[in-house]
Amino acid sequence: MPANSVGNRVLLTADQTLMSDYHKNIFIGFGTCAPSNFIPDKLYSWLFFPPIKSIKGIPVAAPYGLRKIEAQLLSEGFDVLTVAPTHIEKYIHNAKVLGIYTMDPFGLGPASTTLAFILKKEPFLAQCFRNLLENPCISEAKNRGMKIIVGGPGVWQFRYRPKLVEKWGIDCVIEGEAEKVVGKIVRAAINDEKLPQYHEVSIKETPGLDEIPVIEKPSINGLVEIGRGCCRGCDFCSVTLRPLRWYPYEKILQEIKVNVESEYSRHANLHAEDVMLYGSKTTIPNDNKILKLHKMAVKNCDSIGWSHCSLACIAIKPKLFARISEIILQKQPWWGAEIGIETGSPRLAKKIMRAKAHPFKPEEWPEVVRTSMGLAHDYKLIPACTLIVGVPRETEDDLLKTIELVEDLKDVRSLIVPLFFVPMGKLKDEGWFKETEMTPLHRELLIKCLRHGFRWVNEIIELSFSGKWYANIMQFFYKVFAKIAEYNIERKGITVKAGK
Ligand code: SF4
Repeated sequence: MPANSVGNRVLLTADQTLMSDYHKNIFIGFGTCAPSNFIPDKLYSWLFFPPIKSIKGIPVAAPYGLRKIEAQLLSEGFDVLTVAPTHIEKYIHNAKVLGIYTMDPFGLGPASTTLAFILKKEPFLAQCFRNLLENPCISEAKNRGMKIIVGGPGVWQFRYRPKLVEKWGIDCVIEGEAEKVVGKIVRAAINDEKLPQYHEVSIKETPGLDEIPVIEKPSINGLVEIGRGCCRGCDFCSVTLRPLRWYPYEKILQEIKVNVESEYSRHANLHAEDVMLYGSKTTIPNDNKILKLHKMAVKNCDSIGWSHCSLACIAIKPKLFARISEIILQKQPWWGAEIGIETGSPRLAKKIMRAKAHPFKPEEWPEVVRTSMGLAHDYKLIPACTLIVGVPRETEDDLLKTIELVEDLKDVRSLIVPLFFVPMGKLKDEGWFKETEMTPLHRELLIKCLRHGFRWVNEIIELSFSGKWYANIMQFFYKVFAKIAEYNIERKGITVKAGK
């Protein structure tokens, strides 16, 4: 029996920094982690997170995680509507439940913490989340009995902000993969039953492949999941606590088609913690499966991106990587992926990410990084790399080795972003890295990464927009922004200009 009836509507939304397609370039979305900076906020938000096109407040695409929850609730018969945060007033009057998706609600994620420390202000994503929750129409709806449920990868942060859960009247925070529990919780909300303030999805409640629905409406930038979980088990990561599952080709193709046929996006951003491992149960890529996946994707869309991949997989199968790049580059000049380098220290690699280099030994990690980054450069994969700074018990020697590695990568077209350690995964009970703990070596590493970024930024901007009709204007704006940032940093006495 459908739970659908007038006044029982479930509205889904996310804040402005998530309801954007970042000028069709997912990496520009990193800009949402920054606070107010060198240019006016309005101009910055237009450059880094312009509102996604919407028709009468209904966005043409929405964050993938929100689309999954929407599909799940639709399959259970709920009356669900996904709306843009800018138009929530228009639809909230008959909503019984407001579901909010979030990735970094208080700016406590590694990238936002680092940028907030440097610029000493609240990141845009935290500002926008607050603006959404403090929209007066939400408190009015709460007064007449509407319930608020929050989910998404950033909800762990609510444990650090319990007062705001109370102040904003959040009725339930769901932590983990919610497909199997969200219907039950929403039904209880509609029936005015008491909700658990926090619901942590247990392993038993984690959905199997056939319990995860196919999205019904377009996802931002054509993102489609190809699998969930990761087998590498890094200590600082929460993904590792989830079981590894790969979607069958048909399911992936169905989602690519949802995007392509909607005419919103003919791009497919393949999402997994390590795309190169598609279909594999070990740390060695399965040639047939990954090649078949890419041939299928290229045939059915105009361009491809990867969410994440590991350097170990590129290093262990360089010929396979070259073959995949040939398939991808048939239709596009480059592609991107987020890649974790984390450290240049074999000692630290052995301690906190023992399997990151697997099947190589953790001691071989710096060499694995150098080899794979070289291959990425040659085959036009542009990595946005992360480093972890301030891991508990990190030594000066660890930092020196990481600085050395960044220097070795200077000729690799990439961005390298140092992130302050945030206690998560198996290290969740450790202390946060605080700005008072910054040493001259930390500072040197930060400056090295900035120099690396400025060395490559113009070429990356050019490649990012090449072939688009609006390329010239966007390239101009981002290059001017990079120049302004460089000027302001140099004014502080930090030399970041670096000739090639
Ligand atoms: S490889 Fe990446 S996703 Fe997997 S456990 Fe390590 S940090 Fe997490």
